[in-house]
Amino acid sequence: MSGVAPNVAAVRIAKVEPLTSARALRGPFDYRLPEEMAQVEVGSVLRLPFGRRRVLGVVVDFAERSELPDSRLAEPIEALEAGTPPELVDLGLWVAREYCSTPSRGIALALPPGTAAGRSEARSRPRVFATATGAGREALGAGERLGTRQRAALEALVESGEGVERAAAELSEFADTASLRRLERRGLIELREATRSARPVTIPVGEPAKPVVLSPAQREAVDAITAALEPGAGTREFLLHGVTGSGKTEVYLGAAAKALAQGRSVIALVPEIGLAPQTLTRFRARFGDEVAVLHSALTERERRGEWARLRSGEARVCVGPRSAVFAPVSDLGLIVVDEEHDPSYKQEGDPRYDARAVASERARVAGAAVVFGSATPRPKSWRELARLELGERVDGRRLPEVEVLDMRDRGGQAGPLHSRTRSALAELRAGGGKGIVMLNRRGWSPYLSCEACGWAAGCPQCDVSLVVHRAGSKLSCHHCARSEPIPASCPDCGSIAIGTRGVGTERLEADLARELDPMPIFRLDSDTSAAGHGQILHAFQEAPTGVLLGTQMVGKGHDFADVVLSVILDADSTLRFPDFRAEERTFAMIAQLAGRSGRGALDGRVLVQTRTPGAEAVQRAANHDVNGFLAGELERRRELRYPPFGSLVRVEIAGADGVTVARAAEGFSARLRAGLAGGVEVLGPAPRLRVRGRHRSQLLLRAGEPGPAVDGVRAALDGAVGAELRGLAVSVDVDPQ
Ligand code: ADP
Ligand code: ZN
Ligand code: ZN
Repeated sequence: MSGVAPNVAAVRIAKVEPLTSARALRGPFDYRLPEEMAQVEVGSVLRLPFGRRRVLGVVVDFAERSELPDSRLAEPIEALEAGTPPELVDLGLWVAREYCSTPSRGIALALPPGTAAGRSEARSRPRVFATATGAGREALGAGERLGTRQRAALEALVESGEGVERAAAELSEFADTASLRRLERRGLIELREATRSARPVTIPVGEPAKPVVLSPAQREAVDAITAALEPGAGTREFLLHGVTGSGKTEVYLGAAAKALAQGRSVIALVPEIGLAPQTLTRFRARFGDEVAVLHSALTERERRGEWARLRSGEARVCVGPRSAVFAPVSDLGLIVVDEEHDPSYKQEGDPRYDARAVASERARVAGAAVVFGSATPRPKSWRELARLELGERVDGRRLPEVEVLDMRDRGGQAGPLHSRTRSALAELRAGGGKGIVMLNRRGWSPYLSCEACGWAAGCPQCDVSLVVHRAGSKLSCHHCARSEPIPASCPDCGSIAIGTRGVGTERLEADLARELDPMPIFRLDSDTSAAGHGQILHAFQEAPTGVLLGTQMVGKGHDFADVVLSVILDADSTLRFPDFRAEERTFAMIAQLAGRSGRGALDGRVLVQTRTPGAEAVQRAANHDVNGFLAGELERRRELRYPPFGSLVRVEIAGADGVTVARAAEGFSARLRAGLAGGVEVLGPAPRLRVRGRHRSQLLLRAGEPGPAVDGVRAALDGAVGAELRGLAVSVDVDPQ
């Protein structure tokens, strides 16, 4: 390169993003790489001197020269062995830009499990096994020159016998890994790196895989996706639309098989792994050990093991929730996004990425195909993607009858169940069938109040009421971790006339268990531990009869052949949210649960209890009218310029003092408005509910494209973090859900 004196030995400068969460810190920073670090590449993790601290950092680029004077260029302390593939570093940086986060938080998404928490090299190092070779034995016999440590290690290995492996850790009293590597280079020993064999155990859920002959519609879908695997294919993203039971998973498997046959790899995303073990079971049944799974319920050791299997190419299919979109596979051919309408694809903490958008970006760069599958697609996908239709259920069965039950005027009946629901459940018990009951409210009861003075139990930290939990007899806040004992008398007036109002899943479980005895009730919600979800689903599947009761997670992705009754209590709870997606959510929730019923030989029946029986989302879902619902919804969105016809960016400012937060929000809003490009509209600031003792204020930006809004927010933040926002927490949510 011009300007570099030819006689100067090429110094490598690594551009490194430190793994810190400080927003104000702007990397990348330059470090000079010593010769021993020749193996460092983009994605390598380095331990760095950083001011007076030591931090970990990730190499994002290289340069031949630095702007910094030589005297100020530091060298890394060491390079950790595990790193992330370069294309994932780019993907992490893309996420950081797109979602207005920091490079380090973006990259952290793609690092080996545990790295960002600062795990030491010792723990991240793969297990190394050593064996003496014939040459090694001869070298010892011939008295060849060896370092003391090398000699000791080699002697130990030869003593163990040729071809017998010993873990490097066992040899550590003789020699470190570096000495072993020197022996290896001389051909005296062989080293093998093994990922720890901590493999997660999965409980099979769902019917065993039987080989199927694809229907014409399935065939067509697989062919279209296969064509997208070819270089230069025009369309690479598809919406696979089909009701539950229409055979979408078979299409995923068929397309995945094609990608694998080309030597490429596959990522299959599911909403929540604990709730979709069937997908995993079916991928495993088809692709065996090629399938790895990554999710947060695994131990860190298991996650490291699976991550390493994917990184090395030993496994080429990754099944997991949203974070699996960062799986370290190479030669990506296909990404499947199952149940693409599910809101859990959006990450709630910074960076607030949407795994569906990340999947599109990753696939675009890799030249891979993406299949978004759902019975109730997002309006955005409906409008923007090439559509593959599966039409009807594989078994030709009709969709179940849906009956909407009006809960407003019930002729004096009380309790959470409509009389028709009660009789349907009684019939279920008499007939020995299986049913699913959904109530989107966990705990025993959502309110505790005093009948004498009107006192109500509320969280002192958040502007919400405390929920009564009978298990552990406590009141707990569903917004912060706070919990306290249930008072025996009113803390305000001392009356003992305090009582609960409303019903949650815990109480309904007790009621149903009593009423439907001896039919077993299986409860599934976030109070029943996540690790146990697979077991609960498995138990429900194995049981000859029973009711699966729980929050909306009971409506997700399960394939139980013998469910004949599905009930949704309080179907409009989601409609009451002040959110433009409320209709979409409600529709999907009802239609999804309806799809769980009557999948086997028996006809299904669906009951929807609601206080708004006439609502568009309820009516369309009851009539299985996806097309009608989406057409109407898209029209409404177009008029309001809501996504997908416009973009929203939400900025939230939070702090301990309400006045400070309000003032900061005003100041920030003024700064933002002054710097924004035309066509971006700012709504607010508006106060929001207090959570965890923090007052919050929110601004909403609306624009045609997200880019100018995100740029505006970023620029304003740069100026404001040291000024009006000092000491306050800021979160930016692009395309908030
Ligand atoms: P979805 O993913 O759309 O809910 P699945 O792929 O799970 O649908 O299919 C529903 C059921 O039908 C499964 O038990 C599956 O094995 C079976 N199935 C799917 N495709 C076929 C086919 N072409 N022939 C026979 N059975 C099929
Ligand atoms: Zn009272
Ligand atoms: Zn709280």
